[in-house]
Amino acid sequence: MRDELLKLTRQVREHLSWLERGGVTGVPRPAPEPTQVLAATKTAAPVAAPSAAATKIVAPVAAPVLDPRDSGRPVGAAGLQLVREELGDCQRCKLADKRTNIVFGVGNPDAPLVFVGEAPGGDEDRTGEPFVGAAGQLLTKMIIAMGLSREEVYICNILKCRPPGNRNPEPDEIEQCEPFLKKQLAAIRPRMIVCLGKFATQCLLRSDAPISRLRGTWKTYEGIPLMPTFHPAFLLRNPSAKREVWEDLKQVMGELDRLGIVRKNTT
Ligand code: URA
Repeated sequence: MRDELLKLTRQVREHLSWLERGGVTGVPRPAPEPTQVLAATKTAAPVAAPSAAATKIVAPVAAPVLDPRDSGRPVGAAGLQLVREELGDCQRCKLADKRTNIVFGVGNPDAPLVFVGEAPGGDEDRTGEPFVGAAGQLLTKMIIAMGLSREEVYICNILKCRPPGNRNPEPDEIEQCEPFLKKQLAAIRPRMIVCLGKFATQCLLRSDAPISRLRGTWKTYEGIPLMPTFHPAFLLRNPSAKREVWEDLKQVMGELDRLGIVRKNTT
C-alpha cells in the first residue's frame, strides 16, 4: 500500500512538472463550496465584506475565433501550452535581461472570464505568478466577492516581464508582448474580459481617455466584451473607489448570469 502511494505521488509530481515545463501554471480543481450571498453585497464594498450568493460557472464557453489565421490552433490548455512554448525563454525586448521569471498567466484555460492587468511587480517576478502581491490579494478578494475563485477565471497581464522599478510599460515592450496576450485569449476563448486599470485599458482599447471615463461601460477587444475598471493597486491607495469597482463587477456578474455562464446559488 505504501509503495503504491509513493508510486502514485511520484507519478503526479512528474505529471505536474511536465505540465509546468510546458507552461501550464495552474490546474483546475473543484470549485469551492459557495459561501456567499451576492444580494448582501448590494451596498457593501466588495473587498471589505465579500459577500454572499455565490455564483458557479455552469456553461462551457463558445469559441469566438479571434484570428482566422489561428483558427486551426488548439484551444484550452493545449492552446495555452502552445503559446507558452512559442514565448519560450523570451528575449524579444529589453525587459528580458532584468526579469527573474516570465509571468505568463494563471487559472482556468477555458475561463469564461479573464482579468488583464498591467505588468508583473516584484512579488510576481519572484514567483512567476500574476497578482500575488498586495494588489493581487485584493484582486483575489474581488474575485471571491463575485462568487468565483482564481482557479475558475484566468489572470494575466499586458506584459509578461517586470518593468524595472514597476515603471509603465513602453511601446516597444507592448508591441512584442501583446501578440502573446492575443494568442492566450484566442486559446482561452473568454466570454468577457475585465481590464484592470488605466494602463491595461488604454492599451487594449488603443485609447488615451482617462480610466475614470472609460470604466463602468462595456467596450470590446477583438470582439470580446470588455469591462474596464480601476486597478486593485489604485484601490489600495483610494479605498473609496471600491464602490465603483463593485458596480463594474456587478455588471460583469449580471452578464455572466444572463448568458447562463454562471448559476446564482440562492441556498
Ligand atoms: N499589478 C499588475 O498589473 N499585475 C500584476 O501581476 C501585479 C500587479
